[in-house]
Order: sequence, then structure tokens, then C-alpha cells
Amino acid sequence: MKWAVLGGGLSGVTIARLLHEKGHDVAVLEQEGEIGGLCRSRSEQGFTFDRGGSHIIFSRDKGALAFMQGVLGENRTVRERNTVVFYKGREVPYPFENGLYALPKEDLYACIHGFIQALIAHEKGMVPPPASFREWIEQTFGRGIADCYLVPYNEKIWKYPLDLMSTHWVEGRIPRPPVEDVIRAAIGIPTVGYAHQAVFSYPTEGGIQAMVRAIAAPVGKHIRTGYAVNSVKRKGGQYLVSDGKETIRADRVISTIPLQALIPCLPDVPVQVQEACTSLKYNSLLSVSLGIRGTVPPISWMYVPEKDLGQFNRISFPSNYSDAVAPEGHASILAEITYREGDPVASMTDRELVDHVVSGLCRMGILPSPDTVVYSRVEREPYAYVIYDLDYLRNIRVVRDHVEARGIDLLGRFARFEYLNMDACIRAAMDFAEKVPCA
Ligand SMILES: Cc1cc2nc3c(=O)[nH]c(=O)nc-3n(C[C@H](O)[C@H](O)[C@H](O)COP(=O)(O)OP(=O)(O)OC[C@H]3O[C@@H](n4cnc5c(N)ncnc54)[C@H](O)[C@@H]3O)c2cc1C
Repeated sequence: MKWAVLGGGLSGVTIARLLHEKGHDVAVLEQEGEIGGLCRSRSEQGFTFDRGGSHIIFSRDKGALAFMQGVLGENRTVRERNTVVFYKGREVPYPFENGLYALPKEDLYACIHGFIQALIAHEKGMVPPPASFREWIEQTFGRGIADCYLVPYNEKIWKYPLDLMSTHWVEGRIPRPPVEDVIRAAIGIPTVGYAHQAVFSYPTEGGIQAMVRAIAAPVGKHIRTGYAVNSVKRKGGQYLVSDGKETIRADRVISTIPLQALIPCLPDVPVQVQEACTSLKYNSLLSVSLGIRGTVPPISWMYVPEKDLGQFNRISFPSNYSDAVAPEGHASILAEITYREGDPVASMTDRELVDHVVSGLCRMGILPSPDTVVYSRVEREPYAYVIYDLDYLRNIRVVRDHVEARGIDLLGRFARFEYLNMDACIRAAMDFAEKVPCA
């Protein structure tokens, strides 16, 4: 059995490895010059940055976590999460509802009052099913937490009206705050939220791409880079996959590339499927990497809901993940900015973006002065976040049904078109491989 795996990101190399371990013949076809996709990293001038935004290794899924940790072997650093929300010049411990004691008194009152009102409404059965993500936020956390943090932060990262986003994805991903934690937070007793992430790991050397490289090692000679798939056809019992120069025959095809890249590769796609595919919404990502002389605060990453401080929604400090990702006497900062085609930020030059981030960081007091910056680089990832708009479930069903009717399997974040983290990509590959008999 020969398998063609479209795309050499985390999902592609993981499924290739697992099928190879079962004795199958695999060919991974990756358009870029290297594997990794969103999990690529770049090392320059002694700094290593993740190109698709800051990544850490954590999971509730013990099997997926053991796999990620296992492939790294000795090349792994373990750190305790120290994450904050930057709010009115203060560092509020994250998750926000666990750090309420750090708020100004009026805001603390608004958050607790709103939370209790939401709780009472819930207990009395007065809460209708939420019609949108915004309603879900307000019903679950109350108006105070919504207005201070969750609404402005989510508006900043999604750049999409929260009234027009669905709620089907939030349960589990944004946990409901336990009442006890909120009461403790209000009176100043520290608690740990999102406990499964409280300790995380990260490759000591090579950034997050080191993990993808370690997964890919046993299948290295079956990976083709620089192969941009532009056609997938069926002929007889086989698939013919091509990049316009060379055709590869396979018995089965697994696609891990975005649906927006796959659909144009297929012949005779009905108009309604093409329309459903173009209606699927997503955000792209700008990552601004800065190497600096000196130190950074002992923070893992920081959420920045305030719009006036800058376009970035999150700032991370990779040199706090591993000592080996910045040269001696230096530290690193990675700012993430989401965007869609046509947004003003999409047309900013690299220089403008770096200046924008540096001036925001100086205003926040994170950088003492622009002169401390010794390295900068801007990366762009076209596919970063799936946006769950109100039409998502209808559109994704149409597209998936069509692709699956052609016998093509879909794995991965933008092939499934779901908000999947690395552990979920690995879990899906494990579950898929489990069902495939050994060759
Ligand atoms: C800002 C950000 C932070 C994140 N942080 C974390 C984190 O801390 N922890 C965590 O667990 N997860 C995190 N994630 C999620 C993680 O990045 C993804 O789950 C994972 O990288 C998805 O891998 P994938 O292989 O499914 O998709 P991708 O990485 O998108 O891979 C798809 C591959 O297909 C290739 N391709 C596309 N078109 C073609 C074509 N026509 N022919 C051939 N190849 C093609 C692409 O080049 C790419 O290599 C984060 C994501 C983002 C955006």
C-alpha cells in the first residue's frame, strides 16, 4: 500500500511516521523547502524563534504528550508557566479569573458582581442557549470579566465580530471558571487555572521545529520538499498526485494541507462546494521576533487586550522557555499580530512592524529603550487561526463530505479546518494509524 501524504507539517510527518512503523510505503509532499509548517523555527545570530508564533508542549492527553516528549529525548527543557494579562499597566496572573485580586478595586468589583449575577441567572435557569460567542462569554463569566478582558482580547485576536462567531468550539477549550477559584482570586488567595498547562516543556535546542524534525527522522528519505501539490486525480484504483512537473502514484491520499489549497487541486468540484470552501474564514499571523541585549521579565507569555498599546495580542519570551535560544547576555521577545487580507496591518513593511512593536513594548515598560534591540525579523503565516463564524458548521460539512466522498482522508489543523493544537493533531494521527492494518 502506497500512501501519499500532502503537506509536511506536524500532522503530515506524524502520520507518515506511524504508517511507516506499520510497514507502509509513504511519500510526504511538502511545498516549502523544509518540513514543519506552523511549527517551523528560525535560528539566526544565536537566537531561535518559532516562525508560526510561540509554541509550547503541553496536553491533557497523556498518550500525545508522551509521544511529543519521547521524540525529544534529552533535548527538552521543562518550565513552570508564569503567564499574565497586561491590564491597565498591571500584570494580572492568567487565567484572568484566577488573578482578579491584581485588578484596580472598581474593576474587581465589576468582575465579581458580574460573575455572581451570571451565576444566579444560571442557577435560576434564566439563561437561554447563547446565540453567539459574545453571549457565551457574558453568560459564563459575567459582564465585568467580559468587558475588562475577554471581549477586548477576543476582538483583538479574532478581528471578527464576536456576535457573529459560533459557540460550538468553546466548551473544553475555554473552561468555565470554578466558583471557588473566583472567590479565592477576589480575596487574594492565588490559585492555578488551566492546571494541565501549568508546567510545559520546550525543545532545549532548535525551537519547536526540533520536535517535528525528531518525529520525521525515521521517514526522512520519504519526504519530498519543494513539491507543491497542484493536482490530485483518480485513475483506475489509484490516485495521481502532481506538482505539474512530476506525478506520483498512490493507493491512498491523506491531505494535511489547507482545504483552500486542496480544493483547487481536485477536478470537477461542484460550484456549491467551491463556494462553501471560499466562505470558510481564517486569520493569518505576523510574528515579530526581537533579540535584545539584557534581560526580559521572568514571564512565559503575556496577553495584551488593550488596543492602544499596539496591534499585538500576545507577547512571549522564548528565552524563558530554554536558555539555549538566545546568546549569553541576551533575551528574546516574540510578538503576534493576527490579520486578514486587506487589513491595514497586512500592508505594513517589516520595518514599520518592528518599529510598531518596539514602541509598544517601550510604552509597556518591557523594553527600556529601542537601542537594546540587536536582532529583528518578521514572519508571515497565511493560515494561522480557523474562525468559527455562524456559517462554519454548514460550510465545513459541505466541503468535508465532498472530499471524503473522493476517498481522500483529512488530518490536521487546516485540512480538518479546526482549531487543533499539536496534541490534537498527534492524537488524530494516532487514531487514524491505529485503524490501518500492518502491511
Ligand atoms: C500562533 C500559534 C501558536 C500556537 N501555539 C501552540 C502551542 O503552544 N501548543 C500547541 O500544541 N499548538 C500550538 N499551535 C497549533 C499548532 O501550530 C498546530 O496544531 C500544528 O502546527 C498544525 O500542524 P499541521 O501539520 O496540521 O498544519 P500546518 O502546520 O499548517 O502544515 C500544513 C503543511 O502543508 C503544506 N502545504 C500547504 N499547501 C501545500 C501544497 N499545495 N502542497 C504541498 N504542501 C502544502 C504547508 O507548507 C505546511 O507545511 C499554535 C498555532 C498558532 C497559529
